[in-house]
Amino acid sequence: MKNKAPKYLLAIHGGVGTILKENMNAEKELAYKQVLTLALTRGEMVLQKNGTALEATEAAIKVMEDSILFNAGKGSVFTHEGKIEMDASIMDGKNLDAGAVAGVCNIKNPISAALKVLQESGHILLMGKGAEQFALQHHCKFEDDEYFRSDDRWDQLQLAKESQGVWLDHSGEHKSATATVENGGLKLGTVGAVALDLEGNIAAATSTGGMTNKKFGRIGDTPIIGAGTYANNNTCAVSCTGHGEYFIKNVVAYDVAALMEYKKYSLEEAVNYVIHKKLNDQQAEAGLIALDSKGNYSICFNTEGMYRGVVRQGEAIKVAIYKEV
Ligand code: ASP
Repeated sequence: MKNKAPKYLLAIHGGVGTILKENMNAEKELAYKQVLTLALTRGEMVLQKNGTALEATEAAIKVMEDSILFNAGKGSVFTHEGKIEMDASIMDGKNLDAGAVAGVCNIKNPISAALKVLQESGHILLMGKGAEQFALQHHCKFEDDEYFRSDDRWDQLQLAKESQGVWLDHSGEHKSATATVENGGLKLGTVGAVALDLEGNIAAATSTGGMTNKKFGRIGDTPIIGAGTYANNNTCAVSCTGHGEYFIKNVVAYDVAALMEYKKYSLEEAVNYVIHKKLNDQQAEAGLIALDSKGNYSICFNTEGMYRGVVRQGEAIKVAIYKEV
């Protein structure tokens, strides 16, 4: 019998939400698709060179963190106090090692800080000032407040404050009237990546600025292992996006893995059940990307759209935004 070597696979997301074609134009669409394509290209380069799934997810996420278009790194949304506080996590399906940072300021790439936590800290989740100190000691890049600031994000915060809302960075009605691609407006979503490498190992990673107008040090699902991110070679790698509180109380990423492990669901069945049954019933805006070590993948959401993309060894990069694809 022929020995079947695993083929690499990488899937990414840039958030879910009310992403409607009528609110877009060709130029905006192109801008989003370019960043998604670049993220997949960078991640794929790692996998082509026999890099690990863990490294590939970090590489892909860094591209989206460096873009003003997504709610992570540079494009992060403001807290009630007008600060940028970011969350990120990463998990290795080979050995269940994980790293995460929560409520961190000024770190250019929170996902790289999360990876350092996994590799060097002996812990899993570091928060606030301590996490920043750790990142500094491990040579993570820092940027000043100006780097993260955009006028549209600021306008969005003022609108959220007026209505006393805490907003997911996803829905069209939450955008300021001045939002454009040029000024960084219409930025949608937390970012995530899942990968399968040539050794057959899988990994998941997620990064976000959280929710506009969040208060009191609110932390979402993104840095919580099992809620926003999970990876286990025996089941699947999952990265989530949507209203974080629902993902925490439903332990969503782990729930997908648990359905596979204990109920023997396929990846597709587990993902569909969690998004289209469980989270739909709770009226939670939700999406996730997932894959397993056999090379199956699933991209699933219950909203109008989701920024997303996938590349498999020997195949062309695919990116999409709206529901139809
Ligand atoms: N899940 C993130 C949070 O609640 C938000 C998002 O996915 O955009 O912090």
